[in-house]
Amino acid sequence: MESSAKHILIVEDERHLAQGIRFNLDAEGYRVTVVGDGPSALRLVRADPTAVDLIILDLMLPGMSGYAVCEQIRQAGNDVPILILSARTLTEDRIRGLDVGADQYLQKPFELDELLAMVRNLLTRRGRFKLPAAGKKVGDVLEFGRARVNFDTFEVTVDGKRLRLTPMELKLLRFFAEHEGSVLSRNQLLDAVWGLKSTVVTRTVDNFVMRLRKYFEADPARPRHFLSVRGAGYRFLAEAEEEEAPG
Ligand code: CA
Repeated sequence: MESSAKHILIVEDERHLAQGIRFNLDAEGYRVTVVGDGPSALRLVRADPTAVDLIILDLMLPGMSGYAVCEQIRQAGNDVPILILSARTLTEDRIRGLDVGADQYLQKPFELDELLAMVRNLLTRRGRFKLPAAGKKVGDVLEFGRARVNFDTFEVTVDGKRLRLTPMELKLLRFFAEHEGSVLSRNQLLDAVWGLKSTVVTRTVDNFVMRLRKYFEADPARPRHFLSVRGAGYRFLAEAEEEEAPG
């Protein structure tokens, strides 16, 4: 149950687009602030890191790019969900966006319904992470390999060293943990973790699994916990196992 409206920050220099998004988010009952450049967004978030529940961030901004904005927010330790909007279509752009800590990437032009679904999903997820996990067999603390993950406090350590995961990374990790040992298809993961039914952004799952491997695998090229299952998807094993040799 939510008593106050979620606050969404739109960082977009195209006024008409920004106002169009604002209009529709207003209609959904969200509180919306629009700024036209990166420094204004950073000032706002730095003044009060908890003031904003979600950021919708354009990449091509005057002066400072959306990538830089996203990176600086994450470097400041702020894990507010960030949804990147961009006309850029290159896969490398999308990966770079996710690499600097964005949670979602939506390509312009986009369907309004898709944007609203992503917004709902990102806000729900953030809320969910604040709840104690009930009836989960792994408990609130997941231990595997050299890693320890507390889903209540978001504390993640590998070999005792503290790591910072984004809400999306934690959400994916948690879903894997809750389905330990099961083969999960990309579509299943897209649906459950990102709230996407479509076949769009299919590389998202692979990119995020690559990120989990970078964090947690001793050798990300030879994963022992986050396994690829050829033609099927991925499987998480808390107890390390060699990936099957090809052929
Ligand atoms: Ca722009």
